[in-house]
Amino acid sequence: MHYSMMFLPTVRETPSDAEVISHQLMLRAGVIRKLTSGVYSYLPLGYRVIRKFEQIVREEMTRAGAQEVFLPTVQPAELWQESGRWTHYGKELLRFRDRHDRECCLGPTHEEVITDLVRNEIKSYRQLPLNLYQIQTKFRDEIRPRFGVMRCREFGMKDAYSFDTDEEGAEISYRKMFDAYNRIFTRCGLKFRPVEADTGSIGGSFSHEFLVTADSGEDAMVYCTRCDYAANLEKAEVPRPEQKQANAKDFLPLEEVCTPDVRTIEEVCAFLKVTPQDVIKTLIFNADGKPIAILIRGDKEVNEIKVKNFLGCDELELAMDDMILEVTKSPRGFAGAIGIKCRILADYSLMNMKNFVMGANKEDHHVKNVNFRRDFTVKDFVDLRAVQEGDVCPRCLSAMKFARGIEVGHVFKLGTKYSKAMKAHYLDKNGQEKIMIMGCYGIGIGRTVAASIEQNYDGKGIIWPMAIAPYQVIITPVNVREESLAKASEALYQKLQGQGIEVLLDDRDERAGVKFMDADLIGIPIRITIGPKNLAEKKVEIKIRRSGEVKILGLAEVEAFIVNTIKEEM
Ligand code: ATP
Ligand code: MG
Repeated sequence: MHYSMMFLPTVRETPSDAEVISHQLMLRAGVIRKLTSGVYSYLPLGYRVIRKFEQIVREEMTRAGAQEVFLPTVQPAELWQESGRWTHYGKELLRFRDRHDRECCLGPTHEEVITDLVRNEIKSYRQLPLNLYQIQTKFRDEIRPRFGVMRCREFGMKDAYSFDTDEEGAEISYRKMFDAYNRIFTRCGLKFRPVEADTGSIGGSFSHEFLVTADSGEDAMVYCTRCDYAANLEKAEVPRPEQKQANAKDFLPLEEVCTPDVRTIEEVCAFLKVTPQDVIKTLIFNADGKPIAILIRGDKEVNEIKVKNFLGCDELELAMDDMILEVTKSPRGFAGAIGIKCRILADYSLMNMKNFVMGANKEDHHVKNVNFRRDFTVKDFVDLRAVQEGDVCPRCLSAMKFARGIEVGHVFKLGTKYSKAMKAHYLDKNGQEKIMIMGCYGIGIGRTVAASIEQNYDGKGIIWPMAIAPYQVIITPVNVREESLAKASEALYQKLQGQGIEVLLDDRDERAGVKFMDADLIGIPIRITIGPKNLAEKKVEIKIRRSGEVKILGLAEVEAFIVNTIKEEM
């Protein structure tokens, strides 16, 4: 491509409305332009990167045995009513009516459409397993679109769906996608981690998010410093402590104390001169309309997702004052386990506590020296807390570290959630009707490209990894008015193109400094500079964008060097 012909509007100033570096650089380097909130156009340079990334995705999907389809964006409400999501999916689902007053939506994901297709066409176990994928536009009416194409409303996604006859097969399908994802992100030169993610009601370790590590990432993860355990913070487990037999001889007499207006853990600790480790917090939640008391040590926080999964409820929120009054017979701030009128769940952090403080279920009162068994019983201890700094690995008990990341992909075993609701059945060997077992697997196309910039840039601009670079090489004649330079550049350009190398020739009548700045900004991995001095000796200068390394090479050697460098970096 000749730069002078290219639609490539670069910008020197940092756009004021772009918070993260990838968003800033994508605007500055002429990769994207905003149309309206959360809706972006890709310009030629950006679209080349998208196409290259999609190509990698396609190759690895094919390698993993998935077949490409292309499903519609507009979806009828009926399918969503069948799956139950028409009412459950929030405002991210953009709903509208067509001229015949039929309700529709723009697809935020395609489980319903694919399940409908497969149930109509697949009848026998002989036609399974099946994995279908597409690369297609999704629309999610995100409440707060931000970070450019990282969290936008209209975006490209690769979504794959597997259908199997049994659990074993479903796990194999899952593993294939998991492996394919590892290859895809590795090929893009990204630093990433698959982390265990929340599976909701499905359970087991059959949901992994692929997080590209970046401080700007919206997701928090923990990972073990010794084994390969890594999990999204919302899913991260803590090991179950060993339970020691409490000796009743150590139990001090139960004591009710007047604590006027003392409600929070800090206030309780200051008033009673104890530490948060001596106090048990009693939090009343409303789980699908029913009260539940969660007991947790004063220095820990409840992870509501764990509570929700343990209870298997749909809605969980902190109880309102009337519910608290109903179960504790006291206003907010004095709840405790003794005599409470609802089910209680105790976190692991309570195991082995004795003589602790908790609310007395009585306004302005707490109780001291509370002990299990003597004062109230707990059926079982459950992992309900949010992992904190200092928590150890649930697998090998080694130290864990916290990091942030950008979720670029997600693999998820769906089980029979959709196939059951939408009756995706098949006949097994014995002619019996069975339900298909599904998995779904997504990759955010634009988000991955943005995430790759978050990991590959410097003060001058983007540094594209070779595998997704819009062009592999940029040829920069320092002065196109000088005919010998222009000619030599064009000749080299033709020669490299002929070898299938992706080359941009900066034939603009601009100062060399301006061209160098643009070449750095748009992040082309290899720059070949053609100047009068070197050319007189049949030489050119080669500069590697990432390392800044400069080499003077004879014109005859250039091609082999470029071919090699590209090969090494792919
Ligand atoms: P998030 O938690 O970030 O909202 P999600 O869990 O809703 O994402 P999935 O439904 O798992 O996302 O979608 C699969 C992939 O699509 C994600 O891993 C991500 O890469 C991409 N993606 C999701 N939402 C957006 C968005 N608003 N903008 C760009 N990419 C997105
Ligand atoms: Mg997800």
